[in-house]
Amino acid sequence: MNTRKILLAESDIPTHWTNIVADMPNKPLPPLNPATGEPIGPEALAPLFPRALIEQEMSGEALIEIPDEVRDIYTQWRPTPLFRARSLEKALDTPAHIYYKYEGVSPAGSHKPNTAVPQAWYNKQEGIKRITTETGAGQWGSALSYACGLFDLTCEVYMVRTSYDSKPYRKLLMNTWGAEVHPSPSPRTAAGRAILEKDPDCPGSLGIAISEAIEMAAQSDDAHYALGSVLNHVLLHQTIVGQEAKKQMEMAGEYPDVIIAPFGGGSNFAGLTFPFLSDNLKRGGKVRCVASEPASCPKLTRGIFRYDYGDTAGMTPLLPMYTLGHNFVPAPIHAGGLRYHGAGVVVSQLLKDKLIEAIAHPQKECFEAGILFARTEGILPAPEANHGIATAIREAKAAQASGEKKVILFNLCGHGHFDLTSYETYLGGKLVDHELTQGEIDTALADLDTPKID
Ligand SMILES: *Cc1c(COP(=O)(O)O)cnc(C)c1O
Repeated sequence: MNTRKILLAESDIPTHWTNIVADMPNKPLPPLNPATGEPIGPEALAPLFPRALIEQEMSGEALIEIPDEVRDIYTQWRPTPLFRARSLEKALDTPAHIYYKYEGVSPAGSHKPNTAVPQAWYNKQEGIKRITTETGAGQWGSALSYACGLFDLTCEVYMVRTSYDSKPYRKLLMNTWGAEVHPSPSPRTAAGRAILEKDPDCPGSLGIAISEAIEMAAQSDDAHYALGSVLNHVLLHQTIVGQEAKKQMEMAGEYPDVIIAPFGGGSNFAGLTFPFLSDNLKRGGKVRCVASEPASCPKLTRGIFRYDYGDTAGMTPLLPMYTLGHNFVPAPIHAGGLRYHGAGVVVSQLLKDKLIEAIAHPQKECFEAGILFARTEGILPAPEANHGIATAIREAKAAQASGEKKVILFNLCGHGHFDLTSYETYLGGKLVDHELTQGEIDTALADLDTPKID
């Protein structure tokens, strides 16, 4: 029989998160205090995050131990399966071997609980009672709602307006796990009110929702804020995905030539690729790591490397990253989780140093890829995940053209069971590609008054 599914035992769940910073030839530049232009210290983050997470955020240690209780909760859905996409390979008639790591088996349906659980746990240890956050597609909000529920913490979610309106079931899932959900921009915060005054119909963006969640957390001593992507500690928590995948590829007797993951802020990309990228950096490995982003929010392929705020209102420290500018509001495409103006600091430095690659896809190509995947492999992918599938299919077609027997691994980072409205749009022939002109990008970047990086 031809193996399709490669499974690990609970005892194979990693004991440590692995920190790529230890292996990077050029370490990431420090975040800056916007008022002074000086690097921030840990105290700048203390109103928002527990001490242990701030330490992880600034850590250069290679290995960070996973707390036992967190590891125990991981067994609820981990280890996740690795699949060989034999039916997809057949449909593409490609000599390439295609593998995917499936993170949609988690309670929230994506990789996000891998970091939501430790984040909630560390906050609980510090006596925090309430956590605020933003959510785009609703995946992160669901994951944090689930995790907060486990530790009896109140969860307050600012959900980007377009998703709030188009995904009522994501909201209800969060409510079911006990969270409060508000459409963003909202009249509850100064940041939200300022935007609504200018544009009462604003579709919202992750940048705006982050400003609202930070503003609420900063106001009370027993509240903290949590972010589902971008920050170093979030990327770190996701490295259990790649560690498992390495073992599973070994069991399959193969090593990938190219690893692909969709890219919003970088967490699922980092999670799958970093443990392999460490092999490149430490042992001279040659695996290509490719980030797949939407053509309508192309910070990696068309943005600039510069200091910028992580949110729209300018409440975060300045981060050295690829960005389209913190005022950039992307078109309301269906992959809500990829509508973020910037990219994680670590991933940005790696791209700057050409140690990873990026590619942008229009959304129609992504949905075509997702539908072919659903019809062959059976799993309905999240619209974000379709971006990785689109890149994998391009790689497989290139292999077919050249007859090369390459090994492709991609991250199927979530299922699309709550995203069927977007499939309805596609199947009804109504899905459109959004052309983003250079003029629009130039306008968003012209507003930036943040420090440049030579
Ligand atoms: C959140 C999310 C993304 C984008 O965020 P990353 O931090 O870049 O992973 C992509 N896919 C899914 C399914 C998500 O939930």
